[in-house]
Amino acid sequence: MSPEQGPDRQTVLFIGGLGRSGTTLIEKLLNELPQTQAVGETVHLWERGVRDQERCGCGQPFTACPHWGAVGEAAFGSWANVDLDRVIDLRWKQDRSRMLPQIFRALRSGRSSDEQNEYLGYLRPVLQASAAVAGPSPDGGTKIILDSSKHLSTAALLALDPSLDVRVLHVLRDPRGVAHSWTKVIDRPEADGQSMPTYKPSRTALRWVTDNLGFEALAKLGVATHRLRYEDFLANPQASMTAVANFAGIAGHDLFPMIEGMTIHLQNPMHSIAGNPLRFDGDEITLKLDDAWKTELDAKAKATVTRITRPVLKRFGYQA
Ligand SMILES: [Zn+2]
Repeated sequence: MSPEQGPDRQTVLFIGGLGRSGTTLIEKLLNELPQTQAVGETVHLWERGVRDQERCGCGQPFTACPHWGAVGEAAFGSWANVDLDRVIDLRWKQDRSRMLPQIFRALRSGRSSDEQNEYLGYLRPVLQASAAVAGPSPDGGTKIILDSSKHLSTAALLALDPSLDVRVLHVLRDPRGVAHSWTKVIDRPEADGQSMPTYKPSRTALRWVTDNLGFEALAKLGVATHRLRYEDFLANPQASMTAVANFAGIAGHDLFPMIEGMTIHLQNPMHSIAGNPLRFDGDEITLKLDDAWKTELDAKAKATVTRITRPVLKRFGYQA
């Protein structure tokens, strides 16, 4: 498949930002819309999905999942035809934070490198095939693909592809809440015996600054971006999510009938690879602002996070 520019560009709603910012819930809600198809975190697809056969969000091992089996066939004839060593090599060379200067330069000049193009040559068919396998949207058009990779580098790389209409949903949460969450040990049910990594508050705080400034810079380069704060999402889930859907190109008011007050009723299986274990959770979820950090994060850690993020806290709507 060669990149084409024009009205047939595949819309990709990219969920960006730091993990533990409410992104999984937001992805689950978006996946309920008949106009969307979630694919999970494509940045991890090759290793955790194709190579390690971790479980999809629907509960099936990767190749046993009907969605991903059909995607592999439509995109490559079979997953077995993919040069897995090469694509994993490309991912670790190109799709990472240290490559951001090169990716941003390519976005500015409109000229991407051979390796960037080669990597997109693997990702693009997966996104396009996911939309094809998902079938048409109720309006007859192509479904919007939800990519929840979250990494700024993945968003910026996808934005290089002229055949993709990439729209970034930039999700933020109070850095002290994010930092607190990353100190907690959480199991990964899709990978037996493993748990999610934990990070020191100072590391999370640094990431918070660079990541959020990076998404702001990506928006300044012309990549369509909608910012959503976790706290605003929980203050008014229906209005926040409808605004996100409108941003993705879905017209209408109160687009989320599955949100009733602070309870959400989920129906659609989510064929997502990698991500927060919360994606395996049941059908009914009560939305509640998680501000446990206010009492549970110790004073020293709180002060450290505030000190590191202070120069940009206000800019993103948070108190120092
Ligand atoms: Zn699945």
